[in-house]
Amino acid sequence: MAARIAIVGGGIAGLAAAHALARTPGQVEVTVLEAGPRWGGKILTERLDGFVIEGGPDTFLAAKPWAVALCKELGIANQLQGTNPDKNATYILKNGRLHPIPGGLTMMIPTEFVSMLRTGLLTWPAKLRMAADFVLPARANGREESMGQFVSRRLGRAAYEALIEPLMSGIYAGDGDQLSIQATLPYLPDLERAHGGLIRGALHVRQARQKNGHTPSPGSRSLFLTPAGGLAEIVEALVGQLQRSGVRLQLGMAVQAIHRTADGFVLQLPDGARVEADAVILATPGYVSAQMLADLAPDLAAELEAISYVSTATVSLAFRADQIEHPLDGYGYVIPRTEGHAALACTWTSTKFPHRAPAGHVLLRVFIGRAGQEGDIPWDEAGLLALAKQELAETLGITAVPEIARVFVWERAMPQYNLGHPARLERIDGHLEDLPGLALAGNAFRGIGIPDCIHSGHQAAARALAFVGAEHPEPETTV
Ligand SMILES: Cc1cc2nc3c(=O)[nH]c(=O)nc-3n(C[C@H](O)[C@H](O)[C@H](O)COP(=O)(O)OP(=O)(O)OC[C@H]3O[C@@H](n4cnc5c(N)ncnc54)[C@H](O)[C@@H]3O)c2cc1C
Repeated sequence: MAARIAIVGGGIAGLAAAHALARTPGQVEVTVLEAGPRWGGKILTERLDGFVIEGGPDTFLAAKPWAVALCKELGIANQLQGTNPDKNATYILKNGRLHPIPGGLTMMIPTEFVSMLRTGLLTWPAKLRMAADFVLPARANGREESMGQFVSRRLGRAAYEALIEPLMSGIYAGDGDQLSIQATLPYLPDLERAHGGLIRGALHVRQARQKNGHTPSPGSRSLFLTPAGGLAEIVEALVGQLQRSGVRLQLGMAVQAIHRTADGFVLQLPDGARVEADAVILATPGYVSAQMLADLAPDLAAELEAISYVSTATVSLAFRADQIEHPLDGYGYVIPRTEGHAALACTWTSTKFPHRAPAGHVLLRVFIGRAGQEGDIPWDEAGLLALAKQELAETLGITAVPEIARVFVWERAMPQYNLGHPARLERIDGHLEDLPGLALAGNAFRGIGIPDCIHSGHQAAARALAFVGAEHPEPETTV
């Protein structure tokens, strides 16, 4: 009899796990249980009047291979589009004015001296302090540091606050003084260790890339990719493929608890409904998995519950081009925490991805909410819309009435890899040794981006297959 594997959570991690399991026809029976009314979790695309509006993520990093590889397997790689190469400036807000990000950032570290000398983002003392990175000794002990501590130690606090913080912590909507550099951007401490300093290390990487003719992804020079019809295309293709493979896909199934039986696991659903499985993959947020595991594995549940999450929202606004005077000549801007805005960033979507708005129209997206400031935000639709409009008016001078306004609220959506996260992951792995039939996937652990979530799903699938004694799926496709 085929082993039964249940996956809880139909976001990209859970669906990717199911996809990996479906490569073992006849060996396993796979069921995916999703609490909500649709598949994709944080991936949510609306197609409206010729606009492609992303409620959650809007693109993925091409350099991490798992998303591109999945698109190839699903036959939709030809749909992938890069960002607009003709207007690729990104700006940072400082004292209410937009400054272009200095050219030559490599792994977010400046490597072009002329553009650093010219930038209005930093004072001369701050620029001099950055240059001290060349002479400061590398730290020998491998002690964990926050993003803020680490970058300030190397490049100075001013450079951290004005330049690096808005780029780095924006990814997590986090607080850089809490986020662990080892858990979020481990390659930066590696650069320091290997080259004695960050700028020296980044220069080395840049030269090596130039020598090797590096492109971020085969066939594309774009750092970021996304399907033409929005990221939901990946979810739609995955769901179609899973249905054809005989995977049982069930919406509206909110798992409440997991128990052990003599032969495996029982997943408890509302109204006494139950699903039995030999192995279980939880691809749900940490705090949700914690609730399910409270009785079965209280120590593991406590670790999962302790991963904190930040709520965020995106507000997409569409205008006629003739309503907007601003040139919108780039991908948008990021807003340092020190500027005191409720918004974290504004993407000029129709410049960054021209295919997402019909001709003669403009699509903008304001990203709201960051760690430590959630209490100051009105989370209702009207309040968020007002904040987004205020941001556009203050920074871009846009006061026109939008033709379309869409607000998406993501409660407790962004896991924070705060100080202590690497040690917590080790403890979680330790607890999982006592529960070999259980696997965890998703953005709570080793990467918040879509490619990492896909990878986590594949790894969880391999663990579940090993447990039920089924043959491993063919090795992951790499690009
Ligand atoms: C606004 C925003 C912008 C982002 N931008 C980007 C970006 O541009 N690029 C990028 O790579 N990443 C981005 N991210 C991050 C990325 O989208 C997420 O990390 C990723 O999609 C999470 O996938 P997941 O499968 O781990 O979790 P989720 O998508 O959260 O899926 C978990 C699923 O579990 C379900 N569930 C919850 N409880 C239960 C239960 N009891 N029983 C059954 N099911 C349950 C949920 O309904 C959900 O569908 C962004 C995230 C947000 C919120």
